[in-house]
Amino acid sequence: NIISTDTYKIRFKDEGYGHLNELITLNNYTNIYVLVDENTKKLCLTRLKEKASFKFEIIEIKSGEIHKNIDTCVDIWNRLTNKNADRNSLFINLGGGVITDIGGFIASTYKRGIDFVNIPTTLLSMVDASIGSKTGINLNSIKNQIGLFSDPLTVIVDTDYLKTLSKREINSGYAEIFKHSIISNSNFKKLVENPNLVYDEDIIASSIELKNKVVKKDKFENDVRKHLNFGHTIGHAVESLFMNKKNKLLHGEAIAIGMICESYISSKINGLEIDKANEIKNHLNKFFSKVSFSKSDINEICNLIKYDKKNHINIPKFVLLKDLGLVETDINVDMNLVSTSFDYYSVKL
Ligand code: NAD
Repeated sequence: NIISTDTYKIRFKDEGYGHLNELITLNNYTNIYVLVDENTKKLCLTRLKEKASFKFEIIEIKSGEIHKNIDTCVDIWNRLTNKNADRNSLFINLGGGVITDIGGFIASTYKRGIDFVNIPTTLLSMVDASIGSKTGINLNSIKNQIGLFSDPLTVIVDTDYLKTLSKREINSGYAEIFKHSIISNSNFKKLVENPNLVYDEDIIASSIELKNKVVKKDKFENDVRKHLNFGHTIGHAVESLFMNKKNKLLHGEAIAIGMICESYISSKINGLEIDKANEIKNHLNKFFSKVSFSKSDINEICNLIKYDKKNHINIPKFVLLKDLGLVETDINVDMNLVSTSFDYYSVKL
């Protein structure tokens, strides 16, 4: 089971490690560096060492979104320079989306670019962050403001890493799996009827394939790649709001709220049957506990959406559903409707 992008291949478990071992022998790299955070160093490195037939040096950074910034990059570029890392070095990113995003960026810019490989260790990075060629870092509080499209040499998906991941992190990744199934109308019924399929390897592989299909059609997000942003206009605003609170939300937790609200909005102005919005809401509610929003929270969310720097001439554009598998982009939505969608989110069906 190999998934081909236009430029590289995504391989699973032993097939992936076998290929990486061969590549490394073939390319005769001068140095191999493995980027980890303290958690993937402790929990994932042993498995990589078991599978790797090559020697490598470890580069460790602190875990967490707040470290996905230019200071961390400067620190690593300095470390590579002090180690005399040359252009014939290989950089392996072993971790979640923070590691694959920042590691891809560091590798793509060091000496105008060295080879890198992604080995995602969270569900979210397996089905989303490590594939699709987007690398980057945050600038102050603006997410992914600096970065570039850059392809890894290969991606190895090994679900064994998920054994040590918390249920909360697993559910966060599942939100993206469910999003892929909604926007493509694949596996939707299967997932809704079997909430225990979260760890299912076929579901994970098929979710990767769905994202890959979209990226292959429109890598630079001029058109259909925007479909992947379903749930993200409201979801990102919710994520930003909670960034400044004690109880931060994980990416997928915020996107789940965004998908519920945007499904409701789709039913109001874009022809989605309300039963389908309800089905989406009911299913997501099995994975995520309810979050309360005050009136002022909702006002702030609307402001965050209105002033989102990604907006074209300051008008927020939504990605809405017409049906499962039928997505429309660049839709204007009245902020009163955004506000009402939080009433829909809050009530029990
Ligand atoms: P993350 O990398 O912060 O990982 C979450 C936590 O899990 C971290 O504490 C990490 O140390 C820990 N961890 C990782 N693997 C583990 C394992 N196997 N066992 C136990 N703990 C483990 O976050 P994430 O949710 O993987 O990714 C979020 C990031 O991905 C964000 O920065 C987001 O912007 C980015 N992202 C990028 C894309 C893209 O297309 N490039 C797409 C989606 C998300």
